[in-house]
Amino acid sequence: MEYDVIIVGAGPGGIFSAYELVKRAEKKDLRVAVFEMGRPLEQRRCPIDGKKVKSCIRCPVCSIMSGFGGAGAFSDGKYNITNQFGGTLYEYVGKQEALDLMRYVDEINLAHGGEGTRLYSTANTRIKRMCLENGLHLLDAQVRHLGTDINYVVLEHLYAELKDQVDFFFNTTVTSVTRRESGGYEIHAGDTVYSCRDCILSVGRSGSKWLEGVCESLEIPTRSNRVDIGVRVELPAEIFAHLTDELYESKIVYRTEKFEDLVRTFCMNPHGVVVNENTNGIVTVNGHSYEDPAKHTENTNFALLVSKHLSVPFKDSNGYGESIARLSNMLGGGVIVQRFGDLVRGRRSTEARIRESFVTPTLAATPGDLSLVMPKRILDGIIEMIHALDKIAPGTANDDTLLYGVEVKFYNMEVELDSNLETCSSGLYVIGDGSGVTHSLSHASASGVYVARHILETRP
Ligand SMILES: Cc1cc2nc3c(=O)[nH]c(=O)nc-3n(C[C@H](O)[C@H](O)[C@H](O)COP(=O)(O)OP(=O)(O)OC[C@H]3O[C@@H](n4cnc5c(N)ncnc54)[C@H](O)[C@@H]3O)c2cc1C
Repeated sequence: MEYDVIIVGAGPGGIFSAYELVKRAEKKDLRVAVFEMGRPLEQRRCPIDGKKVKSCIRCPVCSIMSGFGGAGAFSDGKYNITNQFGGTLYEYVGKQEALDLMRYVDEINLAHGGEGTRLYSTANTRIKRMCLENGLHLLDAQVRHLGTDINYVVLEHLYAELKDQVDFFFNTTVTSVTRRESGGYEIHAGDTVYSCRDCILSVGRSGSKWLEGVCESLEIPTRSNRVDIGVRVELPAEIFAHLTDELYESKIVYRTEKFEDLVRTFCMNPHGVVVNENTNGIVTVNGHSYEDPAKHTENTNFALLVSKHLSVPFKDSNGYGESIARLSNMLGGGVIVQRFGDLVRGRRSTEARIRESFVTPTLAATPGDLSLVMPKRILDGIIEMIHALDKIAPGTANDDTLLYGVEVKFYNMEVELDSNLETCSSGLYVIGDGSGVTHSLSHASASGVYVARHILETRP
């Protein structure tokens, strides 16, 4: 079957490239296909129901990470419009273009069900100053918070609009990509082969290992990337309310006194829930929240992360992060939860201590001891940061604050790309989190729009 453009992966990167291709194709009769190993949106179900299935059973294709909407489908739907975090797209396309693309994505989201959601801004000197006075640095961003529920509605609308113009192949894992002698590419899905002139690989984190193999076979150079390791903090929502009411998400960076490491807050979810995340069979922790007040919890959660980029002699930063996550899976059967008070006293948390805690966990994790899992340097940095945050949000360092571990943000190796996000193999583009260039909804989506426009410009 012959297509003009084949997109592998129906996450935000893939969806927005398909959207832009068909919207801007005008009279060009463009045949576009999207291949996705996961399911259509409405069939995506994680079997964990909190009753019969309490923890991850490692499905062959994880419904949280895969399917229409990609890893972002059940996310908090926070679209950060900024070059300060979420990826380095601006290094390829320029700072202004990157922001313009993110604003364009925001407009499309608003036009597909996101209207009425709030755009927060960190351009606020009062909170910024309060942070600076306490050795903390608040990063600049505008944040569109769709919430898990509205994010889902936007995806439903986008799919409804695209389904008649794009061929979607769900439950279809692309096994390999090969170059055609006559130009273009062959996409292999089991025994079936599809061909195209241009191919966009948008396989996200879950497709990282697969993408490594594709790059190797097509001799596309790659570089190792960093890994972020840490914990998810959960505490009563009141403690951070003065920040979250005004900014929704605050990205705060702290340099530790002990090792001068940078620790940062990540993915803040006011009144949210803590969830499991399964990446290639390894269970880590994440969080999200709903726009609908009826689904709000009493807690706020956010991650505290430390970046590690290993180089010589061992350069597999992700492998290092994976080993730490595996250790927590080995000791806890999945994610471990510990009270901050237990951690600093050097004792494990038990079922009884968690039950008696004033903070009720929103994730059924195994009570345990994170100091048996996390490297000392990282854990010391996290403890120091919790005390620093306690100065701007008193109560953060309470004994009952819950820490879930481990949270790992894996970054794909960086694929060598030119300023069009094209590889050295002409007509083969790598976008979104899979490229190592982006690690957020807004940057991944923006990279999809950018490549689609470039392909349309270069078509005869
Ligand atoms: C729980 C959670 C909450 C999050 N919250 C936020 C947030 O609030 N804000 C934010 O900015 N970011 C958030 N993120 C991160 C965000 O979801 C990602 O940055 C974003 O989804 C990346 O988009 P992508 O298109 O590059 O990749 P993905 O969304 O990962 O999509 C890639 C798709 O490719 C498919 N695929 C992979 N390999 C193959 C193959 N060989 N064949 C066929 N299909 C394949 C996968 O099944 C997947 O559906 C969150 C992530 C998680 C897991």
